[in-house]
Amino acid sequence: MTPATTYAGRTLALFGLGGSGLATVRALIAGGAVVRAWDDSPESVARARDQGITTSDLRDADWSDFAALILAPGVPLTHPVPHWTVERAKAAGIPIIGDIELYCRERARIAPDAPFVAITGTNGKSTTTALIAHVLSQAGRDVQMGGNIGTAILSLAPPSPDRVHVIELSSFQIDLTPSLAPSIGVLLNITPDHLDRHGTMADYAGIKARLVARADLAIIGVDDTPSRAIAAELTGAVIRVHVGDETGSADLTAREAAVFAADGTPLADLTGIGTLRGAHNWQNAAVALAVVRALGVPPATIAAGLKSFPGLPHRMEEVGRRGRVLFVNDSKATNADSTEKALTAFHDVHWILGGKAKEGGIEPLAPLFGRVAHAYLIGAASDAFAATLDGVVPYTRCGTLDIATAMAAQAAAASEAPEPVVLLSPACASYDQFRSFEDRGDQFRALVRALG
Ligand code: ADP
Repeated sequence: MTPATTYAGRTLALFGLGGSGLATVRALIAGGAVVRAWDDSPESVARARDQGITTSDLRDADWSDFAALILAPGVPLTHPVPHWTVERAKAAGIPIIGDIELYCRERARIAPDAPFVAITGTNGKSTTTALIAHVLSQAGRDVQMGGNIGTAILSLAPPSPDRVHVIELSSFQIDLTPSLAPSIGVLLNITPDHLDRHGTMADYAGIKARLVARADLAIIGVDDTPSRAIAAELTGAVIRVHVGDETGSADLTAREAAVFAADGTPLADLTGIGTLRGAHNWQNAAVALAVVRALGVPPATIAAGLKSFPGLPHRMEEVGRRGRVLFVNDSKATNADSTEKALTAFHDVHWILGGKAKEGGIEPLAPLFGRVAHAYLIGAASDAFAATLDGVVPYTRCGTLDIATAMAAQAAAASEAPEPVVLLSPACASYDQFRSFEDRGDQFRALVRALG
């Protein structure tokens, strides 16, 4: 744990008692603060109490007693409307910050030169964060990984000069971290997302820009207009990473499963690395490579680390092979945009899709339908998706995942393709039939294992 000492001896309001909220309460208490913790959900309040945390209803509180409001990142700060605690904090004139800010202050106090890699972007954050942490730990470094992925930042070991913190940050977390100044700031990409929570695209890009603005070294994916504009405005050290054919248009270029320096020197070969398939993963790999090079990891160790990356569950995760047939769990693909990445990476696809449809359905995927041998429909979106596929892609309405998996496995085994793929990439939310996308992916993995 990293005790948070900046409010030692003072009283704070803390709202949001999910996993990171509970960790933050503990770190603040360990650092000597008095914490008034609360949540709108009675279950969260009860769970905090069960864990020995004192809760108090902030609606009844005298806010002039508080030195700050510590807010969980999931709680609306601005859009669609500020949460009531935000209004109360503003009226009391106190700062509103999050757990990453507490970490940054602790780092500034005890180890200002401790390596701190902060990663953001609309897509690919978790993959890139996990990949950087993996390569560093393969290189024998002391690595602490967390933030928006896995462990809450204040549950990690404290910053120190020979320990690297590799931290994934959402826009919401950046928004609550005014003193963010990582040693390496990574911005992967910016595309419209979460605009309901950030207002306009300009607001959203402005928040992302803050992660790299004060980084000692900024590493930026320059394939979209907002990210390119942010890279162009920076005056400090910047490494620009591009995915495409024109080697030399950026400092690093990824194409055809390889990463090149600006002068065309090959830096990494991603051929055959199943966990880094697809152009989106080349971006993730090139950015990760730039980070670990900057941290002094030798080329051979980088190559070995990329090769041994286990990947993350539910993101084009290889969950089995039966003869020539490869089974891939891409349950994290809850919209057409994500499914596009998976369909682009494979041929001869036996595609399991459906669930709770998102706006726009699967029509944007039509240019990739030629890669699909057969589609297996599940869940609430079946009618809508059948209408899109009709006459273009053969499909079967399977209803449930178990039937779809069995049918797809059988048809793929009978196929004459060299490597048929049974791909769960639903392009839908899971809530009509599953607790979460993780639950859906776990069930698929279990069904595949049960095939023998
Ligand atoms: P995040 O943590 O930002 O949500 P993940 O690494 O969990 O991102 O990947 C989620 C999905 O986003 C993947 O399944 C893939 O479809 C897509 N994706 C991953 N990396 C990228 C990228 N660099 N560019 C665009 N899309 C990506």
